[in-house]
Amino acid sequence: MEILKTVNLTKIYGYGENKVLALNKANLEVKQGEFIAILGTSGSGKSTFLNLVGGLDTPTKGEIFVKGKDISKLKKEEQTIFRRRYIGFVFQNYSLMPVLNVYDNVVLPISFDKGQRINHEYIKSLLTELGLWDKRKKYPNELSGGQQQRVAIARALANKPAIILADEPTGNLDSKTTSEVIGVLKSSSHKYNQTIIMVTHNEIIAQACDRILRIEDGILRKAGEQDV
Ligand code: ADP
Repeated sequence: MEILKTVNLTKIYGYGENKVLALNKANLEVKQGEFIAILGTSGSGKSTFLNLVGGLDTPTKGEIFVKGKDISKLKKEEQTIFRRRYIGFVFQNYSLMPVLNVYDNVVLPISFDKGQRINHEYIKSLLTELGLWDKRKKYPNELSGGQQQRVAIARALANKPAIILADEPTGNLDSKTTSEVIGVLKSSSHKYNQTIIMVTHNEIIAQACDRILRIEDGILRKAGEQDV
């Protein structure tokens, strides 16, 4: 079974003259462990796609199946629970909590979920793998941009989500740090059999992924595929 399947996923913002077809019948199937890039220019529909798959917004039409469960019609509270259990997010601006140290930032999503216990050994192995164990007591403002993004990746991995959604994760980083962070995403994907969907406008970054899809004017297609 695919970890993610979208069927004719469509999002229309606004009404009447202000109507925007942001996502137009997107069909995608993703297997567990795949590291996928969705490549598109600004305004092409990348964030719309991530927001729908991550349960931050609901589609106008179409379905989203995560581990076989249709999440497209969940109510607000159900969406929140779904996000906590099944999705890890990595953003361009890291979005770490400045008042928490590295360790506490990483376990934060787990501590929100009352049904889950923190597995200290797993968190330790994760932080060690990502080169952060000796930085565990540091605060975000004591770390470089690349280190902060590694913390955000560790946090996304912490509760073993079905899917990690990464939105321009290297947008704020120089090219050397970018390769390092993409390397961390790639090795995490392999080591933990972690599905990752990354959206980017950067062709070179996308090349590091197992599979590239392109999005243009809300239409998602395989790289190289033409209009039909
Ligand atoms: P990207 O992430 O690729 O830059 P978006 O998914 O943000 O693209 O946007 C796709 C299209 O939908 C754009 O034309 C954008 O202006 C429009 N859009 C996005 N969010 C909204 C919204 N909340 N209301 C109206 N239009 C929106």
